[in-house]
Amino acid sequence: MNPLLRDWDTPYNTPPFQLIEVSHFKPAIEESIKTASEEITGIAENDQPADFENTIAALDRSATRLGDISSVLFNLNSAETTRELQEAARDVSPLLARFSNDITLNEKLFARVKYIYETRNSSGLTTEQIMLVEKNYRNFILGGAGLDEEKKKRFRQISEELSRLGVRFEENILEETNTFELHITDINDITGVPEGALEMAAMEAKKRNREGWVFTLHLPSYIPFMQYCDNRSLREEMYKAYASRAFHGNSNDNRELVREIVNLRLELSGILGSANYAELILGDRMADTTAKVVAFLNDIHNASRTAALRDMDDMRKYAAGNGFRGELQRWDWAYYSEKLRMAKFDIDDEVLKPYFVLGNAEQAIFRLATTLYGITFRENSSVPVYNEEVKVWEVLDSDGTLLALLYTDYFPRAGKNSGAWMTSFREQRRENGVEIRPLISIVANFTRPTETKPSLITFNELTTFLHEFGHALHGMLTKCNYESLSGTSVARDFVELPSQFMENYAYEKEWLSAWALHYLTGERIPDTIIEKIKESSAFNEGYACNRQLGFGFLDMAWHTITAPVPGDITSFESAAIQSTELLPQVEGTNISASFAHIFSGGYAAGYYGYKWAEVLDADAFQYFREKGIFNTGTAASFRKNILEKGGTDKPMKLYVRFRSREPEINAFLDRSGLKDPPSPTSFRSVQA
Ligand SMILES: [Zn+2]
Repeated sequence: MNPLLRDWDTPYNTPPFQLIEVSHFKPAIEESIKTASEEITGIAENDQPADFENTIAALDRSATRLGDISSVLFNLNSAETTRELQEAARDVSPLLARFSNDITLNEKLFARVKYIYETRNSSGLTTEQIMLVEKNYRNFILGGAGLDEEKKKRFRQISEELSRLGVRFEENILEETNTFELHITDINDITGVPEGALEMAAMEAKKRNREGWVFTLHLPSYIPFMQYCDNRSLREEMYKAYASRAFHGNSNDNRELVREIVNLRLELSGILGSANYAELILGDRMADTTAKVVAFLNDIHNASRTAALRDMDDMRKYAAGNGFRGELQRWDWAYYSEKLRMAKFDIDDEVLKPYFVLGNAEQAIFRLATTLYGITFRENSSVPVYNEEVKVWEVLDSDGTLLALLYTDYFPRAGKNSGAWMTSFREQRRENGVEIRPLISIVANFTRPTETKPSLITFNELTTFLHEFGHALHGMLTKCNYESLSGTSVARDFVELPSQFMENYAYEKEWLSAWALHYLTGERIPDTIIEKIKESSAFNEGYACNRQLGFGFLDMAWHTITAPVPGDITSFESAAIQSTELLPQVEGTNISASFAHIFSGGYAAGYYGYKWAEVLDADAFQYFREKGIFNTGTAASFRKNILEKGGTDKPMKLYVRFRSREPEINAFLDRSGLKDPPSPTSFRSVQA
C-alpha cells in the first residue's frame, strides 16, 4: 500500500522519506482529494444551522492529509528534485487548483460562511475565531463566490486572461534578456572587470562558439559589469539594453500588456466591490488602506530626501576627484558607488569569511534563541530525512516540552533551487484539544566545506541564516488553535518582521565577538572589522531608498487608477516617479515594461512591503537595544505578543501589545543613516 496514505509510523509522525517513491505522489494526492471533497460536501450539506464550529472550524480541520502530502511533494520539489518529481508536481497542480476552486465556488458552503461572517460580532466568538471567519470569507470573495451568473462569468474570464497576460509578460522579459549579448574580443575594452566575471563571460562565449567574452543581461553577468567595467560607453550600452527590455516595439513589447493588466485588474476590483485594485489587495494587510501606504511612502521619502541628495553629492565629488568630467548618468552610478565603497570601507568577504565558520554560526544562532527564549536544540538522528546531509533537531521549551522539529539543509546540490527559504512539513494546530506541534525546515545554499577548510560563509550568508531562522522561530514558537492562522500565516506585510528582526544581530558586537573566531588561529573578530560592517551597511542607503520608493510609488500609481488608462504608459510612469528621480531620464527606457514583481510576480500593490518590513524590524530591534539586546523580558514580550500569535489578531494590535505604541520610522532612518546630520532633536525623539 502507498506509504503516503498509511499512518506515518515514524518518530513524531514525520514524513517517512525512506519509503516514499515519486510514483506514490499522484495516486496519494488523488485519493486524498477524494476524501477531502467528501469532507467538504459533508460540511456544505450539513442539515444543522451553520455555526463557527460546524463550518469554519470544520473547514480548517479538513484536508489535513492532502495538505501533509502536498507539503512533502512541493518541499522535495524545491530541495531535492528530479525530472520525475517535477513531472509529478506539474501533474497534480491542476488537480489541486480545481479542488480549491470547487470549494470557493460551492454555493451552499458559501451561504454558510457568509451567514457566520455577517453575524461574527454578535455570536460570542473569540478574536481568533473572528480572524478565521474573516480570512475564510475573504478567500471566498476573492475567489468570486457570491457573484451573480453574469458577473461570475466575467470574473472567470478576467482571472484567466490575467494569468495568461502575466505569463506572457514574464516570457517577453526573458526573451529580451536572452536576446541581447555584448561580445568583446579585445580584453583592453573591458579593463576593471574582475577575474570571476571574466571567467564566466569567457565560458558564455565558448558556449556560443565565439572567441573572447560574452556579457549578458542576466544579473550575475550584468551587475559586476556595471560595477567594474572602466569603459563608459560599453556601460552605457549595457544599461540601455537592460532598462529598455520589453520596450522595443517588437513582438516582445510589454507596453500594451501593462495597460491591459492594470485595466483588467481595475475591472476585477469593481466586480468584487472595491474602488481600485490596491484597495482590494490591501484589505487584510497591516497597512490596510491605500491612504496608509501612500502616506507611509511619502513619510519615508520626505525623511530620506536629504540623505539621497547627500549621496548624490558625495558620488559627484568622488567621481570628479577621480577624473570624471560632465554629468553623472545612470550607467555611472554602480561603477563609482563600488569604487567609493571600497575607498571608504575596504572590507570584503575574503576578510570576513575566515571568522564565519558555518558550524559556529549555527550553534551561536541556537544559543541566541536559548538566551532570548529559553529554548534548546537537541539533534535526533532517528527521524527520517530526504538527503543524508539534512539534520533534524528537537526544539524544546524551557520546561522540556517539545515545541517543534527543525530540519536543517544547508548546502547546494543538483536538484535544489537556488536561494534560501523556511518551509514546513506540518503546521501547528490543535485537534480536539490535542496539540500538534509543527515540523519546520530551513533550506539554504551555503558555501560547502572543502577538503582543507570548514564551511566558511559570507556576511550575506550569515544574515540569510539569521533571516530564515527568524521565520523558523515564528513557525516553531506558535501557539494557536487553527492551522490556517498559525505560525507564519500572517499578513504579507507583517511576515518579514520576525525574520528581518533576527538579521539585526549580525551587526552587534556583543553577539559577533562571542563566537566569530578565526578558523585557523582562533583569534576573535577584531572590533575594527565589526565597526566597518556596521558603517558600510548604511553606505548609499539614501540613494537606494529613494530608488525603491520610486518603485513603490509606481506600483501604487498603477493600482490606484479608478478609470482605465488610455494612452502612453511612459508619461504615466514619469508622473508617478518624478519626485524620486535623481539622475537624468534616459530616452527609450522604461521601468514598467519589465517590472515583473508587480505585473507577473504577486507584488501588485505590495512593493511598499519591503520598506514597511524594514521600518517594523528596526523599530522592534530599537526597543531591544534600549533594554539590552539579550533582555529576556523584552524577548518574552516579543515571543508572547508576536511569535506565538500567528494571524490570530490584527497585526497592528499584536505589534502595539509588544511595543506599547504603533511603529515609528525613526529607528529605520537612524540605522540606514538617512538622518543627516543627526541633530540633537532627532536623538531626543528617538529616546522619548
Ligand atoms: Zn523572508
